[in-house]
Amino acid sequence: MDMGFSIDILPALADNYIYMVSDSDLGLAMAVDPGDADVVRRFLQKKDLHLALILNTHHHSDHINGNEKLQKEYGSPIVGPDKEKHHINGMTRGLSQGDVVTFSDLRGEVIETPGHTSGHISFYFPSLKALFCGDTLFSLGCGRMFEGNAVQLWDSLMTIRKLPDDTLVYCGHEYTEKNSKFAMLLDKDNSELKLRVAEVNDLRRKGLPTLPVKLGMEKKTNPFLRVDCQDFQNTLNKNGFPVQGTDPAAIFGALRAAKDRFNPG
Ligand code: ZN
Ligand code: FE
Repeated sequence: MDMGFSIDILPALADNYIYMVSDSDLGLAMAVDPGDADVVRRFLQKKDLHLALILNTHHHSDHINGNEKLQKEYGSPIVGPDKEKHHINGMTRGLSQGDVVTFSDLRGEVIETPGHTSGHISFYFPSLKALFCGDTLFSLGCGRMFEGNAVQLWDSLMTIRKLPDDTLVYCGHEYTEKNSKFAMLLDKDNSELKLRVAEVNDLRRKGLPTLPVKLGMEKKTNPFLRVDCQDFQNTLNKNGFPVQGTDPAAIFGALRAAKDRFNPG
């Protein structure tokens, strides 16, 4: 990580995370998906930081609820998906694929990752090796398809999968333990998965976040990133989730639907 920058994880609402990237030399911070203004304000006051920028991955209220209060208080610009600008009050700049956001001397690349919502974007900061992917990829799981379809969400996950293995994935929710139950049902003999589940259970027992997680770990353990892999398809067949056809997006869609039935709500 660059000298002088830190990333703090603020639990908010039921199971959201707000991520704060701070430059302590300049006394500035940016907030990713501030679903609760009070949580962000307390952090800024404690660290004596000014909120220089708000990033939104998508328009769901648990990710944007704090926007307006914080903007009023700090005058912070709000950037988010251009395709969702009509659903995000106070947005100062709409972003599309390939756009760049800057904070201090950091560059964040905008990657369109639709599927959970139709305009969802993720932010990739190469110098921090950090990906803020909202509700697209979760550890051991992925977002639900509220607006998009399986082809879109699979495509988005494939775009994320191309990033380097040492990328640190910062997801919008602490869903890992829940997700691990379904992942183990599919893939109980995966030794990497078993180690990750043990780690996750331990972290949660201590009340600690299971994030960020290295993308390389997700590539080996997250069922939704592996549906196009023949070995994993064999595992699915063996464990009572028969794979139909050869189209990865369709197999992905079927698995996503199976998880919706496994863990409704
Ligand atoms: Zn959402
Ligand atoms: Fe969410």
